[in-house]
Amino acid sequence: MYEGAVQDLIDELGRLPGIGPKSAQRIAFHLLATEDEDVERLATTLLRVKNEVKFCTLCGNVAEAELCRICADPRRDPATICVVEEPKDVVAIERTREFRGRYHVLGGAISPIDGIGPDDLRIRELLARLRDGVVTELVLATDPNLEGEATATYLARLLTPMGLVITRLASGLPVGGDLEYADEVTLGRAFSGRRRVE
Ligand SMILES: [Zn+2]
Repeated sequence: MYEGAVQDLIDELGRLPGIGPKSAQRIAFHLLATEDEDVERLATTLLRVKNEVKFCTLCGNVAEAELCRICADPRRDPATICVVEEPKDVVAIERTREFRGRYHVLGGAISPIDGIGPDDLRIRELLARLRDGVVTELVLATDPNLEGEATATYLARLLTPMGLVITRLASGLPVGGDLEYADEVTLGRAFSGRRRVE
């Protein structure tokens, strides 16, 4: 529709999650009208996040060192692991202050429509963490939607034979949404009321 750089920008923005063609166009023209130094700061921040932010080698959370802050903290209970889809879910659960264990970030959820199967998630890494027998409880805190439920069911079937206590967040979370959209009180309640998966 537009020429050269403007269209390239609209195309790039349109590839971002949750941004449709109209929003991409609006953001592109907003940036065109923005002061040079503000655009430069945004560009620098984008490059910095790619260059400096790493993922924790143990749990897959966002980290600035080899291990994330939570894995590096000896006060966190090593016997309980909470399995989530994305690093943003770690932030949402941390806000509730209900959980003192550790996390495992899968990097998504099983979604046949999007071609994402168990092998595309960090399930092998999770199994490796369970091998030494330190972990006794696994909390499945995937999103309360189809993909999240499918992932939790898959993991429960895979891991139940290992003799762990496997729990799932209590109902009451808004169905179909993301964990991060649940308010702290609701998520905290779902966490403390987690029930055992049989
Ligand atoms: Zn970690």
